[in-house]
Amino acid sequence: MILDLRQFESFPAEIVLTGDSGSLNLDFQGLNELKSVKIELRMQESGEEYFCQGTVHASVNVECSRCLTGFDKQFENSVDFIACSESLHADEGDVFDSEDYAFFVGGDIQADITDIVRQSIILSLSLKPLCSEDCKGLCAQCGVNLNEQTCSCETEKIDPRWESLKKLSEQTTENKEHS
Ligand SMILES: [Zn+2]
Ligand SMILES: [Zn+2]
Repeated sequence: MILDLRQFESFPAEIVLTGDSGSLNLDFQGLNELKSVKIELRMQESGEEYFCQGTVHASVNVECSRCLTGFDKQFENSVDFIACSESLHADEGDVFDSEDYAFFVGGDIQADITDIVRQSIILSLSLKPLCSEDCKGLCAQCGVNLNEQTCSCETEKIDPRWESLKKLSEQTTENKEHS
């Protein structure tokens, strides 16, 4: 995925890039399909460096981290990097953090942003996607999807917050019985 900076006559400039989901070669557990990728960028020139900020939009099919069912989801994640020639920072050695950089390829001002886009999508995927906020997940004993069916496993754990309420309602029932 190449960001070609030669096409702009002046900066700041804006661009929308459509990513080739195949070339991202994204292999992440729980990701069934990367359907499409779009990158919106604003770029500013500063000497020999280009400061780029924007948003990566990814349309994916992922596994719900609770019930493991595949579902479609849109991710959005901000990106922030500097495009420049690798030789510009060549003498900085270990103190240089290349993660924030996209280096020029082919001796021209076009930067390979594949890694940056890939990292951005991986970050979104690692946030444990859920098919819905109240997904019931799988039964820990028999493995059925509790969104689709119920099971008769004895796994009912009562939330401690409900415990006192339950006692209260039992007492109320007893009182009624006595009166
Ligand atoms: Zn789910
Ligand atoms: Zn069960």
